[in-house]
Amino acid sequence: MSVARGHCLCGAVTVQVTDLPDELSACHCALCTRWGGGVQMGIEVPLSALTVAGPVKRHRSSELADRAWCDTCGSSLFLAGHGEDVVWLSPGLFENAGGAELVSVVYADRHPDGFWLEGARVERVSQQDYEADNPHLNEEC
Ligand SMILES: [Zn+2]
Ligand SMILES: [Zn+2]
Repeated sequence: MSVARGHCLCGAVTVQVTDLPDELSACHCALCTRWGGGVQMGIEVPLSALTVAGPVKRHRSSELADRAWCDTCGSSLFLAGHGEDVVWLSPGLFENAGGAELVSVVYADRHPDGFWLEGARVERVSQQDYEADNPHLNEEC
């Protein structure tokens, strides 16, 4: 068992994860693009493995999910799906993105014209395919 510790830009919010997964995903949906400042990445972490301390604020960005940030410095912390027992933690909270590797880009066909994420093992999932596999989604996460 390992414990990964991370924090926001100002250090007011700290996170601790038991056995941090080594894979991360990126999303180019319109909500993630705006919230993440260009692209949003996340490491899927079970709530049971996560401890968060500090001034966390949440915004209900859709019917499906909340987005959380540090109320002092504004760093994005995580996306939490309603009724789900996992959150998608921002990799930037950890040194070297927690050592995690980019394995999935969703809404891949919606990437901005100006950049394109690369990675050795990246699977790209289009908006159409992602929503077909996740029928509860109709527009964006
Ligand atoms: Zn902060
Ligand atoms: Zn998204």
